[in-house]
Amino acid sequence: MLTFKPYHALTVAVAFIAAACATTQAVKPTPAEAPVSVPEPAPVGNVFPLTMSVCPGMTVANRPATDADLMITAFSPFVQVNGKVTLATAPVQAACFSSGFGARSFGNHKGIDFYSPDAVDIYAAAAGVVREKTYRDDFGNMLVIDHGDGVFTRYAHLKDFTTGLAQGAMVKPGDVIGHMGHTSKYNVANHLHFEVLTGEWGSQAGSFALTPVDPMKLPAASAKAKS
Ligand SMILES: [Zn+2]
Repeated sequence: MLTFKPYHALTVAVAFIAAACATTQAVKPTPAEAPVSVPEPAPVGNVFPLTMSVCPGMTVANRPATDADLMITAFSPFVQVNGKVTLATAPVQAACFSSGFGARSFGNHKGIDFYSPDAVDIYAAAAGVVREKTYRDDFGNMLVIDHGDGVFTRYAHLKDFTTGLAQGAMVKPGDVIGHMGHTSKYNVANHLHFEVLTGEWGSQAGSFALTPVDPMKLPAASAKAKS
């Protein structure tokens, strides 16, 4: 039995700070004529996990280094691609890291995997335009986002796509694009397969003409994903 708990300590801390700010706003004196309303607290942090753990009890290929609590020690929540595009490394609501990038027993893994037993939200890793939205036997429900500057991201095995999200739609970082699933033709665990791709869109091969890069090896970005 898996004992995975989808908690991210820092995200919880950020939520706590946001709640504390809302309380401070609520006790500010309000002019008598003004409508009495508490403004929505400004977004603090972002929706992306700021920490990441390796899935307990799983054999994780190309496993990153972790501490004793399975937290990935060199995890960067945001990375920079081509020196221009900032992406979230884990575009998922709550999940653990279940497979790394690179050679593994059954072929070359061109992305990284995140596991959850639940149909958690999957987010656009950065601003962009939906370039491809399709079903494939190998990737199930698959979405590719074009972030400009020759940078793309692929999201595979989605349970579903967000209603109304069509090819050509613009997305902001953190927009829910669908939910985690296991929709490939083959029997796979519920997970997100996430790829970061660079290069030029192929006239015939589309996203498969692009070069996959390991998101865990990209330089850390200090800023949050561009909006
Ligand atoms: Zn994968």
